[in-house]
Amino acid sequence: MKSLRGAGEDRSAGLPNKLYGIPVTSSLLPTYARAKLAFERGEGAWLFSTTGERYLDFGAGIAVVSVGHAHPHLVEALTKQAQKLWHVSNLFEIPQAELLGRRLVEVSFADLAFFTNSGTEAIEGAIKAARKYHYVSGHPEKFRIITVQGAFHGRTIAAVTAGGNPKYIEGFGPPPEGFDQVPLGDLAALKAAIGPHTAAIMVEPIQGEGGIRAIPLAHLQAMRQLCDENGLLLVLDEVQTGLGRTGKLFAYEHAGIAPDIMTLAKGLGGGFPLGAILLTREAGKGMTVGTHGTTFGGNPLATTVGNAVLDLVLADDFVDRVARMGKILKEGLVDLAARHRDVIAEIRGQGLMLGIKARGPVQDLVAAALQEKLILIPAGDNVARLLPPLIIGEAEIDAALTRLEAAATSVESKARMGAAE
Ligand SMILES: *Cc1c(COP(=O)(O)O)cnc(C)c1O
Repeated sequence: MKSLRGAGEDRSAGLPNKLYGIPVTSSLLPTYARAKLAFERGEGAWLFSTTGERYLDFGAGIAVVSVGHAHPHLVEALTKQAQKLWHVSNLFEIPQAELLGRRLVEVSFADLAFFTNSGTEAIEGAIKAARKYHYVSGHPEKFRIITVQGAFHGRTIAAVTAGGNPKYIEGFGPPPEGFDQVPLGDLAALKAAIGPHTAAIMVEPIQGEGGIRAIPLAHLQAMRQLCDENGLLLVLDEVQTGLGRTGKLFAYEHAGIAPDIMTLAKGLGGGFPLGAILLTREAGKGMTVGTHGTTFGGNPLATTVGNAVLDLVLADDFVDRVARMGKILKEGLVDLAARHRDVIAEIRGQGLMLGIKARGPVQDLVAAALQEKLILIPAGDNVARLLPPLIIGEAEIDAALTRLEAAATSVESKARMGAAE
C-alpha cells in the first residue's frame, strides 16, 4: 500500500457503476489505499468481481471467511435466524450465545466466554480482565502488560499502544500507560521486563499482520512458565490463528500450553462480525455484574452464525484436513521459492496461515498475483500472506500455485526489463 489516495478521488473503476450511476467519488474516510476492484458474489474460495471476473481468494477477507464464501450451512442458519430474531440486549438470556459459549469452553482451556463484535474489542476486554484480576486479588499496582515487537492487537487506543507500531500510535494523543514491549523470542529481555507492576504477557502465537512471524514454541512455553512463577496471566491473541487456521483448533496446542485468557474473532463468525474473550474462571474472577458490557456483542444473529461455523470447524477431520492442505500448499510454495530465488526470500507459517517473504517490494508480488486473479494479503516484514478459506482442497492449491508461478515470473521479467534500461 504505497500511498493513501485523497478523499473524494474518483474510485469508480472498482465500484458497480451500473448500480450507483457514474462517476462515483468516494465519501469514505480515506484510511485505506483500496484496489480499484469490487466484488458482488462469492462461492467457496472464489470471488466474482462487479466486472464479471473470477478471483481465487487466498485472503479470505483477512482470515475471516473461514469456511468459504456463501457456505450453504451458514446461509441457511443466518436466513432462518434473520426471520425470527436479530437482536435483544444482553439484559436477557440469549440461548444462541449460551450454546456458543458452552461449545467454545468445551473445546478449549477456558471456563467462561464473553462475545464481542471485533478482535480489537476482545483485546480491550482481555486487557481489562487481566488488570481487574490483579485488582481483586489485592494487587491494584499490577496493571502493566508485556507485548512483543511487531505485534498487532487491533486499532483502539489501548490496542495500538499494545501493538507498539509507531505508525498507528503517532498523532493520536498521549498513549495509555501500561504497555512494555520486548523483541520477539528474546528471553532475557522478557525476564528483565517483568517487574512489580506487571499483570500479564500478551502475545500472538504467530504474528499475522507482523508478517507470519511465529513465536518459537519453546519461547511460548517459557512465557507460560514465567507467568506461573511471577503470578502473571498469559493472554494469547488468537484472533487470527484461532479456530483451525494453523492446523490445530487453537495455535497454543502446538506448544502444549494453555493461556489464562484468549481472544478470538476473524474466523469465528465466518464473515459475520463476531469476536470472543475466553477465560479461565480464575482469570475472569474480577469481571462481575456491571464491570464490562456491550450492546451488540453476542446477539442472536451473530452467535447463530458462530454456531454454524463451529458445526463445520468442529466436525471430524476438519482441522486435520487444514493441517494436511497446509502442508501440501507449503511444499508447493517451497518448490516455487526454489525456482524463483530472485523474487522469493523465504516461505513461512503453518497450516493455512502461510507467508511469502519477498526480495523486492512485497507490493509488487501482491499486485502481480492480483493480475493473475489471485488475492494475497500484504503484511509487515515484506511478507505476502496466504490465508485461504479453510475448506480449500488440492484443486484450489494447484490453481494458486499456477497463478503464483506466473506472478513470480512476471515480477522477474519486470525486474529484468528495469535492469536493462
Ligand atoms: C485482526 C487482528 C486484531 C484486530 O481485530 P479487528 O476485528 O480488526 O478489530 C487483533 N489481533 C490480531 C492478532 C489480529 O489479527
